[in-house]
Amino acid sequence: MAKTLSPVCKLCRREGEKLFLKGERCFTPKCSFEKRSFAPGQHGKTAGRGGKGMGTGRASDFARQLRAKQKARRVYGVLERQFRRYVETAQGRRGLTGENLLQILESRLDNVIFRLGYASSRSQARLLVSHGHFTVNGRRSDVPSMILHQGDEVMVREGSSKLTYFKELSDFAEKRNAPAWLSRDVKKISGAVSRLPERAEIDGSLDEQLIVEYYSRR
Ligand code: SF4
Repeated sequence: MAKTLSPVCKLCRREGEKLFLKGERCFTPKCSFEKRSFAPGQHGKTAGRGGKGMGTGRASDFARQLRAKQKARRVYGVLERQFRRYVETAQGRRGLTGENLLQILESRLDNVIFRLGYASSRSQARLLVSHGHFTVNGRRSDVPSMILHQGDEVMVREGSSKLTYFKELSDFAEKRNAPAWLSRDVKKISGAVSRLPERAEIDGSLDEQLIVEYYSRR
């Protein structure tokens, strides 16, 4: 499971925007970004929103590329080495590398569970998957980074469906819309990848072009 050493909310402050990493809490006044929207650390306030090197209009190309890459890593909870592998895979696919990269990130099992509405955040989805609560195409999978493909089906494991969390999940999941590229049956806590997502269906605040530029210069 991808881990980060700093408290989750610091990542939002570091990026200078809400990354919605803590599920429902992010939508309440308890969100720490609402109270402290400057970058963490001694020089956070002077660095301004977006953190060191991201002052208004003065950020170098490299700094903007770095921040775009870091933001995507943090949103999806992916370690650098794995993220780089995704970029290499994206480069080897037909089409635009940036869009391929975002499709790969969206196709991770933990993200699909989150998108289906079966977890309130990607980090919670990672935990549920790593505890073995889901199957992929009928087989138990505890690998959050597993990449799903068109036609793949996920479902809560029979034994896990008796847990209180999953018994009470349908009300929560019903309130959340699943994207059009996924189909789901909330009663069965299942879903399937109908097709890969299009760019317009993925977080528009991610700048895949800057990410590709970051890896092109190295
Ligand atoms: Fe970010 Fe959510 Fe923490 Fe707010 S509560 S700072 S949006 S992770």
